[in-house]
Amino acid sequence: MSVGLVDTHCHLADRRYDADRDAVIERARQAGLTHMVAVGGGGPIEDSEASYELARRFPFLRSTAGIHPHDARNYDDLIEARIEALLEKPEVVAVGETGLDYYYGHSPRKAQREALARHIALARRTAKPIVLHCRDADDDLREVLTTEAPGGLRGVVHCFTGTYENARWYLDYGLLISFSGVVCFPKSQDLRHIAARLPLDRLMVETDSPYLAPPPHRGKRNEPAFVAHVAETLATAHGVTAQAVIEATARNAADLFCLA
Ligand SMILES: [Zn+2]
Ligand SMILES: [Zn+2]
Repeated sequence: MSVGLVDTHCHLADRRYDADRDAVIERARQAGLTHMVAVGGGGPIEDSEASYELARRFPFLRSTAGIHPHDARNYDDLIEARIEALLEKPEVVAVGETGLDYYYGHSPRKAQREALARHIALARRTAKPIVLHCRDADDDLREVLTTEAPGGLRGVVHCFTGTYENARWYLDYGLLISFSGVVCFPKSQDLRHIAARLPLDRLMVETDSPYLAPPPHRGKRNEPAFVAHVAETLATAHGVTAQAVIEATARNAADLFCLA
């Protein structure tokens, strides 16, 4: 199976897909997606376990295991043991999503930083890449990364909405940057300008579904099939064809998540 259009970050275990999950996955395949990464951490640890079950059912699906920064206050040794057990499975290709979310602040900042540090340790121990979430917390994320993994880390800052300077820092540190439907929003001109200045050979595309549906689906439940809109927006920003974006981002996703 060759790698083409990939939704590198979707929450397929979310209960909003309970009624029609298989149809959603089938629509993504019809839309030309070759792979999807079902990200764990959209809720309790059971979400990562459900994502793994999906990855076992579908050969073009992979999953990740971790605890979202929203739920960082619940992180403990028992949860870590369950994440670690998942990371032993070949279908589970990354640690996360983890990171820092100071915008919502559902968990105390200290708990978020501690959970992030432990996810980084897991990534180093298992040699699997890390999926990072960051909202209004770039300074602290950079600091935790530098402290816990001074030599850099393989992984991705997903749903990037930050500044050019921060994007540059993450790339120099060794991470990839992934754009979601946010880059397609009419108001996101600044983000599109930033995207245009970043090298395509370091970018990936995602939906973060069921959240953040791009136009013309805005306000509705998002789904992996819509990732094509993100690729088209990046293509326009870079002045290249959508196919060129799909090929470049596919290589990056294949490398990072060992897709074939
Ligand atoms: Zn996220
Ligand atoms: Zn997510």
